[in-house]
Amino acid sequence: MDVIDLARRLIRIDTTNPPGRERDALDLLAPLLSSGGARVTLDRFDEGRGSLVARFNAGHRAPALCFAGHIDTVPFGGQTWSHPPLGAEEAAGKIYGRGASDMKSGIAAMCIAALEMIAEGMDRELALYVFGGEETGCTGSFHALADPALLGEPGAVVVAEPTSCRPLLGHKGALWLRCTATGTTAHGAMPELGDNALYKAVDAIRAIRDIDWAVPDHAHLGPMTLSVNTLHSGMNTNSVPDRATFDIDMRTLPGQHGPDIVDRIIRAAPPGTIAAQLLDIPAVWTEPSEPWIESAFQVLTPLLDAPPAIETVQFFTDAAAFRRALPDVPILVLGPGDPAMAHQTDEYCAIREIRQAVRLYKAIGAAWAAAPDNP
Ligand SMILES: [Zn+2]
Repeated sequence: MDVIDLARRLIRIDTTNPPGRERDALDLLAPLLSSGGARVTLDRFDEGRGSLVARFNAGHRAPALCFAGHIDTVPFGGQTWSHPPLGAEEAAGKIYGRGASDMKSGIAAMCIAALEMIAEGMDRELALYVFGGEETGCTGSFHALADPALLGEPGAVVVAEPTSCRPLLGHKGALWLRCTATGTTAHGAMPELGDNALYKAVDAIRAIRDIDWAVPDHAHLGPMTLSVNTLHSGMNTNSVPDRATFDIDMRTLPGQHGPDIVDRIIRAAPPGTIAAQLLDIPAVWTEPSEPWIESAFQVLTPLLDAPPAIETVQFFTDAAAFRRALPDVPILVLGPGDPAMAHQTDEYCAIREIRQAVRLYKAIGAAWAAAPDNP
């Protein structure tokens, strides 16, 4: 099958998350990949939802070269599209639709690249991971990769998220917390009889803002950040609130761990403040001097529009689930589509980039197969 046909067929399948319904798209990919020789396993995590792992040359003595991505998309949004979001219409060298950039074109490119490599005689293990649930916190990848049988033995990972076909080396992690302060309610005319939870939350927010994390900026990922982004409290004007909640969005750096950060926040906040983790996704970073990254940059250079630079991704990806399972596996994020198109109205992907991605993945595969002692 042609890569553009596959991308268009995937875009026409509604995998908007929520609710997800990734199975409809996996049911298209599973027979395609197994007819090319892959051993395909489905990992269900909810009704109609799941991820797919396809292994070619499973059981090869050397670790696998892995390609990964997600098949779910964000909702269409409230604006009117000039090309229908499930239409996969082609215009001016672009394919339009929800998921065109993020990231059904990347999924199509990695599947077609793998099928072609195998048909052309690739004898190393190739593993493809098509995850569900990425857009709501990498649910599918954390679920699948917690199972050692599905994780397998990755030697290197390419995550096919949209990067305009530039190889990128990582991204910050994300730690989302919901904090709660509790008190005692009372009539608003007699506040001295209550214990105002909102005042406690405000004190906690101020204390959390003032924490000196003493975490140096990462040379390429930048600073860790913390932002308190919601605050909810109170039922009515004339009652002292007995409960206040606020959400914190932290973007973390390599080496920072969710539980340690929560500990620090609880120690800084007034006694009684509780913090529950909504999301804990580790940062991803591979040094450019890592041997596989060096060799990948070398084989990619003649096929790229510009030489590879040391660059990172703004958003988190399923790479985080690989990083949590395998602290040392080298990871590249590289895929067709403009990252600025992700989640936009009239999302599109340039056809040229989808075809370029197939060539890039095959070049990485050829170098992997040619290396005598991988990894
Ligand atoms: Zn994505």
